Amino acid sequence: MTPKKTKTLSRTRISRNNPTTSRAAWKLHTSENGVGFLQVPAFSVFPWLVHGFSTAQGGVSTLNDGKVLNLGFTEWDARENVQQNRKLFQSALAAADLALVSLQQFHSGVVCVFSSGPNEPYSGDAAITNTLHLLLGLQTADCVPILLLDPKKRAIAAVHAGWRGTLQRIVEKTIGRMKMEFKTNPSDLLAAIGPAIGGCCYEVGTEVAAAFLSQFGNAPEWFDELRTGDEPNPLQWLNQFPPGHQRPPENVRLDLRKANRAQLIAAGLRGQNIFVSDLCTACRPDLLFSYRKQGSESGRMMAVIGIRAEK
Ligand SMILES: [Zn+2]
Repeated sequence: MTPKKTKTLSRTRISRNNPTTSRAAWKLHTSENGVGFLQVPAFSVFPWLVHGFSTAQGGVSTLNDGKVLNLGFTEWDARENVQQNRKLFQSALAAADLALVSLQQFHSGVVCVFSSGPNEPYSGDAAITNTLHLLLGLQTADCVPILLLDPKKRAIAAVHAGWRGTLQRIVEKTIGRMKMEFKTNPSDLLAAIGPAIGGCCYEVGTEVAAAFLSQFGNAPEWFDELRTGDEPNPLQWLNQFPPGHQRPPENVRLDLRKANRAQLIAAGLRGQNIFVSDLCTACRPDLLFSYRKQGSESGRMMAVIGIRAEK
């Protein structure tokens, strides 16, 4: 089944700060079966590849009197609904014949290599393969989903990066493993950083900021102090001003997508090969699931990538 309607989110608009946040780098499709999903045109040009980021749209699960596409096994939803939703999503991507490989995610730095579909559940937060007919999938509802594609070596990866995984450099570790297993050259890689909670909404404690600061030299660029309007010097507390000055705030906002984009650049990817969605899960409850916003009654989205054919 091929997508019926295609809606470009906006005209090409290249931002000077981050050219790949351009909305034209992403397309929202609605399939004949009603499933809404996002794709990156730069990935879609490869006929042997399948990929997609699900939204909340479509599906058979009932949430707040509406139908949603919940792709994760949650307490509020029936198992058979989730299985049916997964079938609908795969069918929308014309990937019904691929074997879905879904990890038991635990906010780790663990990368799993698959050469066949697993017989038992695997725990980890990134999956890589160069085997045909496997559909690597990861679930999110605020955390950052990242898909990686090596078109030269025909190798792929799916990565789940919340703040803990980001701190553990899960995406850098995944690329390291692709180099080892598939001789991937990072400058060949394409990366799609999908919808996640944005720097506009993702409040974290200053202890999280301190942990990032101890690990990454450019971490101050990823944080934004919560402003009350009369604080002239944002991030002053990060610059280790002497005591007696402004007290550190209790919370700050973290842009996880920026942090992961920086890791991709540090790993050797070219800036123009990194495509960052600007959709914030917490800002768009009409389109996406957000755990922060909806709590335990939130659904789960899935980002998937697979090699469907040799040609
Ligand atoms: Zn937001």
